[in-house]
Amino acid sequence: MVRLLIFSCLVLCFNACGQQHKKSGMISLEKTENEYIEVDTTWSEKVLKSDAEWKKILTQKQYYILREHGTERAFSSELYEVKEEGIYICAGCKNPLFSSSAKFDSGTGWPSYFQPLSKKSLNVGSDKSLGMERDALSCQRCDGHLGHVFNDGPKPTGLRYCIDGDGLLFVPKKSASAVATFAGGCFWCTETIFEHIKGVNEVISGYSGGSEENPTYENVGAGRTGHAEAFEVYYDPEVISYADLVRVFFASIDPTTVDGQKPDFGKQYRTIAFYKNDEEKVIIENKIKEIASEYNKPIATQVVPFVKFWKAEAYHQDFVKNNPDQGYVRAESIPRRESTLAKVKDLLR
Ligand SMILES: [Zn+2]
Repeated sequence: MVRLLIFSCLVLCFNACGQQHKKSGMISLEKTENEYIEVDTTWSEKVLKSDAEWKKILTQKQYYILREHGTERAFSSELYEVKEEGIYICAGCKNPLFSSSAKFDSGTGWPSYFQPLSKKSLNVGSDKSLGMERDALSCQRCDGHLGHVFNDGPKPTGLRYCIDGDGLLFVPKKSASAVATFAGGCFWCTETIFEHIKGVNEVISGYSGGSEENPTYENVGAGRTGHAEAFEVYYDPEVISYADLVRVFFASIDPTTVDGQKPDFGKQYRTIAFYKNDEEKVIIENKIKEIASEYNKPIATQVVPFVKFWKAEAYHQDFVKNNPDQGYVRAESIPRRESTLAKVKDLLR
């Protein structure tokens, strides 16, 4: 049941007064720039982490809202004035929470919506803090605190979901997207490279090149399938061409290594440029001709027609971003990314 407690709003508004700093200029969306965030409504497992783990992956502001039940200052969130089409997701677990179509201008200084995105978005509970009783909202997937709900909202629900923008991330509706698929050794490394390239909307780690259905990291990693670690690049062809993506791909690998990329060897780490049409095939072949003279050994990268891509397990997505201190990431992925990006400076975001 939703209770309207004007008093609570007054207290919050009062707290916020005098501290109203409306940010102007370009919207810079913390933690969403230069990275892809996947909108997935098919989750079935909760995201549960220790405080220490949350501290590691959340910004201070996000942690304060989500894990410490904090309240941001009114008008302090850059999401307050966002009117673009898109989805608002939980900053902690990426559970899709609200659509831009349910956002309205409440005048309160906090991002406000008249309904959640799905039945899996929110939990409603009681909050008796600050000497008042309000209906508190938390993310159904990670239990992160998000805000409160009041019954003074607009039609059609009459509800006002008053949300701390710092607990949210905004995923703008995607622009025109094409998909390129490559295999370049360890997919943790290749994903983070392409996420720094302009015109790339998202990069997905997975498996391709084999015939087995539903490959797993365990099977692929042990070399028990015909698949290689691969990745899909979703890109805007108006910003970056397929030829430039192929250029980044070859800059990111040693194309002469048969079955592997240092330090990972085995056919599951072979390099492959998958083509989806003759045009792509010609672009790849021309690039190979162009770079062949730079190497003493023959080019070993396979050029094969694309058949199917299998998305890898969730914990492999954004692996480098989520595990920046992991040993392999520090020793291999980050240096490999930096040396690749130095070769394609004109294509960086
Ligand atoms: Zn969450």
